[in-house]
Amino acid sequence: MRVILFAITLIFLSCNTKEGYFKAIAANDVPLNPPQKGEWLYHHKEKGQTFEEYKKAKPVRPSASCHIIYLKPIGNFTPLQLSMLHLMQQYVAIFFQQQTVLLPAVADSIIPTRLKGDDNMQLLAPYVLDSLLKGKAPNNSIALMAITAKDLYPKDDWNYVFGIASYVDRVGVSSIYRLESAHLDTANFTLCLQRLINIATHEIGHMLSMHHCTFARCVMNGSNTLSETDACPNRLCSECQQKLCWNFKYDNKKRLAQLCEFFSANNLQRDLRVLQFDLAAIE
Ligand SMILES: [Zn+2]
Ligand SMILES: [Zn+2]
Repeated sequence: MRVILFAITLIFLSCNTKEGYFKAIAANDVPLNPPQKGEWLYHHKEKGQTFEEYKKAKPVRPSASCHIIYLKPIGNFTPLQLSMLHLMQQYVAIFFQQQTVLLPAVADSIIPTRLKGDDNMQLLAPYVLDSLLKGKAPNNSIALMAITAKDLYPKDDWNYVFGIASYVDRVGVSSIYRLESAHLDTANFTLCLQRLINIATHEIGHMLSMHHCTFARCVMNGSNTLSETDACPNRLCSECQQKLCWNFKYDNKKRLAQLCEFFSANNLQRDLRVLQFDLAAIE
């Protein structure tokens, strides 16, 4: 009996103890503050998803025939917005360590619209999901995310929505309109990029069966507002990094180095500082 109990204890410990890379970076996980009114966790009582729960949930996994992440621009983009989409493609490829393809832009002329205010022409988001994305992903797609420069609305009595997704179909659409305060320029480019890569990786994370994170500050934290998104650095906590690494089988150190390189090259100083703690922890 004592032997059995010892074995059970060992199994329990091995399931709940991080090792190596994950143990080292876990020291940099920043605990969440008690949620305040208006914040996601104040209004949504979520319990999070451990690494073990993720594995048991039979998550979406890449295979030889189905492993590419596709990004699909919808409508027209300025040259500056297009350069941001190319950076988004680079970042998503690094973040997930998966081939990521930026598809050619498609027209938005068939999507129902409405005029909000003087000059905000919004697109009907569910139409994009149902008519342009569901069942239209390339055969080797593991996730398909559309991006539009126009604002989105989900139904007549709603003002706007940042994006919507169908996690079962592994498709979603997000708008950069409100990330750039309606106009992208060189002054707000970095902040908009910081937000876009956060939202893109969060949404694609959901498509890959990752639930909201309640363990630490993490890209997979739920968010009610742009200011809540802004408070969350572009880093997965150690628990969520374990899920991604187990699923995609990549080299953690190589991924971390590439993320730091990306943040440095694109002046994302806050995110660079955060990941430099991880770099220091594994040296
Ligand atoms: Zn979410
Ligand atoms: Zn997390």
